[in-house]
Amino acid sequence: MITGEELRICKVFECLDAAERDRLATKAADIYVRPDEYLIREGETPHFFVLLEGKLKLSKEVLGRERFFDEIKYATGDFFGEVPILLGTSSLASLKAVTWCRVARFDLQQFQELIRDSEKCSAVIMQAMNERLGRVQRHAMETPAARVLVVGSQYDTDCRDIRTFLAMNRIPYEWLDRDNEADRIPSCMPKDVDGPAVVIDHAFWVPQPPTVRKVAQALGLRTHPTKPMYDVVIVGGGPAGLAAAVYGASEGLCVLLIERNAAGGQAGTSTRIENYLGFPNGVSGDELSEKALRQATRFGAEMVLTRTVVNVEAMTVANGGHGYCVELDGGDRVQTRTVILATGVDWRRLEAPGVEDLLGKGVLYGAARTESQTVIGKDVFIVGGGNSAGQAAMYFTNYARSVTMLVRGPKVEFTMSQYLVDQLSQKCNVSIETNTVVVEAEGEGHLESLTTQAKGEEPQTRKADALFVMIGADANTSWLPKGIERDERGYICTGRDVVDLPGWDSRRRTPFLLETNLPGFFCAGDVRHESIKRVSSGVGEGSMAIAFVHQYLALDDHARLKAS
Ligand SMILES: Cc1cc2nc3c(=O)[nH]c(=O)nc-3n(C[C@H](O)[C@H](O)[C@H](O)COP(=O)(O)OP(=O)(O)OC[C@H]3O[C@@H](n4cnc5c(N)ncnc54)[C@H](O)[C@@H]3O)c2cc1C
Repeated sequence: MITGEELRICKVFECLDAAERDRLATKAADIYVRPDEYLIREGETPHFFVLLEGKLKLSKEVLGRERFFDEIKYATGDFFGEVPILLGTSSLASLKAVTWCRVARFDLQQFQELIRDSEKCSAVIMQAMNERLGRVQRHAMETPAARVLVVGSQYDTDCRDIRTFLAMNRIPYEWLDRDNEADRIPSCMPKDVDGPAVVIDHAFWVPQPPTVRKVAQALGLRTHPTKPMYDVVIVGGGPAGLAAAVYGASEGLCVLLIERNAAGGQAGTSTRIENYLGFPNGVSGDELSEKALRQATRFGAEMVLTRTVVNVEAMTVANGGHGYCVELDGGDRVQTRTVILATGVDWRRLEAPGVEDLLGKGVLYGAARTESQTVIGKDVFIVGGGNSAGQAAMYFTNYARSVTMLVRGPKVEFTMSQYLVDQLSQKCNVSIETNTVVVEAEGEGHLESLTTQAKGEEPQTRKADALFVMIGADANTSWLPKGIERDERGYICTGRDVVDLPGWDSRRRTPFLLETNLPGFFCAGDVRHESIKRVSSGVGEGSMAIAFVHQYLALDDHARLKAS
């Protein structure tokens, strides 16, 4: 236990009399940290600390990488933590032990008592805070705004894929539009390149032609599995897959998550999720996904990005194994004892002349946040009347000159939550046209106009700069083994829906709630037959699937032990 006398080592406590120091000492937590262990990580709830023994170093995440500030070290007698507490933010930096450390940790309430009850203590703390804020300001000015420079054209689909990938992975980048900002293109850029070009950290040109995977590799993101065998392979990094990764890794399973694009899935493209528990002011899909990804990584889940799972094969004694073999595009294979399929859904295609030809050239499925810059001052159309279309409309009203929602049904209230209908009604640059369908998209090289038709009226052609299609989604499960049970729309059947299928009677158990007709092959989230298509239910199912994986593995271990 910490004594008042020990606290005297710190300037803040020198100002107090012995009795007051003793009183505060009894309230401080006595923390020991070994070398290389974190005392606190950036983003955590802040505390006020006094270093009683040892040395600590400070680090901060800068453009996706941890950077240590060698010039800032804390030694015996130093105090810290007051800046985020007084600004009301989470911890602004991480502190890692260089040597064994002993630290006195005060909670918010004790810290407030300290500055309220002693003017002298308060003055010492405020002076330190001013100095540190100056340092924060200098750091903000010295930090480059982006790690990646992308040079390309607005309507080049490869360039758009790279920009979308960077944005979805929350990697800050600068984009130079080759057609409109030619004078800003760095002179060192190879002259013969007319497709996209990408530079990392102002130094490294991604080999031509740059692809999403090459960019991911250049940024140090993992694109290949590292082990030959896992307890569970999760396919898909949306809310369901991320929740499974967090719960699986935190409960000691050896977890691999494979995601073809970026962590977050559909939820990652949402501008504001307002119905997820614990976020009274809503949370952007970006923020939720980033936090979930960090959480999963921190627990030790292995995440492989930019890889698509193209096949899952059941291993048998005949083909030399047990569990499943998961095949990635490009040929990598990994073995796993169980699989959680969390591949969600893909946008339904809009059947109208011109739409397919202008895809990526003004016509887009979904509405990535990256598009905000491309619609500034433009006339934007959104097809669809669901919540995702409503959120996109709300978002683009802050950038576009006009946003027109084209809704096939008679009333948007039938398909959209009332809170979004209310928010849209407050915006002056949005209009909703019901009973209306897209007849044709037209343009030379990119979208220029759109022909629509309202029920009982003549078709109408209007100037259009962008068309975002958000007319619902379908499960894409055609790549899965034929033997897996799906409904007529491709959604995967689980639990009660597969209990009567051949095989279960001989296994002497019924399938777990989220288990498919293949034992040890689970399914969670939007891709599951009759699941509730929400972030919270995806998260719930992902975490539940892990509980079933544990139960399955226990049964499997038992059966193998009996057999041996
Ligand atoms: C714009 C928008 C706004 C929304 N807003 C809300 C909201 O406010 N509140 C709410 O509750 N819900 C909202 N939703 C719905 C919610 O986002 C989904 O229900 C949820 O994301 C489903 O999670 P999931 O993990 O099952 O699937 P998804 O989020 O679809 O994630 C599936 C992931 O699997 C990956 N994948 C697919 N196939 C493969 C493969 N073969 N190999 C590797 N990876 C693969 C995909 O790239 C994707 O990242 C919104 C949806 C959209 C599109």
